[in-house]
Amino acid sequence: MIYVILGIFGLIFGSFYLVVATRLPEGESIVKPGSHCDNCKHMLAWYELIPVISYILQKGKCRSCGAKIPFLTVLIELITSASFMLSYYLFKFDYMFYVSLILFSLTIIIFISDFKYYIISDSPLFTAIILVLGLKFYFFGFKAFYLAVIAGILMFLVLLLIKLFGDKAFKKESLGGGDIKLAILLGVVLGIKLGLAAFILSAFIAFPYAIIVSIIKKEPIVPFGPFIISALLIVFLNMDLFSKLISKYFML
Ligand SMILES: [Zn+2]
Repeated sequence: MIYVILGIFGLIFGSFYLVVATRLPEGESIVKPGSHCDNCKHMLAWYELIPVISYILQKGKCRSCGAKIPFLTVLIELITSASFMLSYYLFKFDYMFYVSLILFSLTIIIFISDFKYYIISDSPLFTAIILVLGLKFYFFGFKAFYLAVIAGILMFLVLLLIKLFGDKAFKKESLGGGDIKLAILLGVVLGIKLGLAAFILSAFIAFPYAIIVSIIKKEPIVPFGPFIISALLIVFLNMDLFSKLISKYFML
């Protein structure tokens, strides 16, 4: 039963994330106008807002003008739903569960907005950072909260340094402003050691992608945000493994 409820919540949140990820980079409000067909601006009635089910009932088309609703919207709702259920399966209602929800949610938003617009919007990112800090305080008290703040600031400074060196070395922007702000979340969630591990991992995942893109496109732009947040998620879900690897190979 709990899976059904979380699954439905996931669908609803998923359709909200889609709005957040596509409207914020365009400078639009996320509440006004309400959900509408992008083609004919027909405002959706409440029963057309029910994720997935309305899509199936309307056979993937706008009820008013018949324009196709992108399947991607349904896919994003389903992925969000699955991630909510997976978080509960892995962690039950623990501190890790809530952080897992936040990270999956932000991952979905960043994947859409950074790949599509090359932008990581501030408000979802800072909402995530504040929520995680709040959870730290609630579950572990002031000291954990304080250490997480310090780790966030340090990770930010480390990536800022890497950016400044990178910009000089490559004579163009190496890391975007959004990527550096994302470092705060790395530090807050994982601490310094695991945060750095996640950053290195993200570079490893991004590297093959960057090569492929530079072969295919003339002016390659590689959004780094999706790789950082993916690496954060991977390290977060396998924290024990990465802690062991670090102490084994770096003796930290
Ligand atoms: Zn329409």
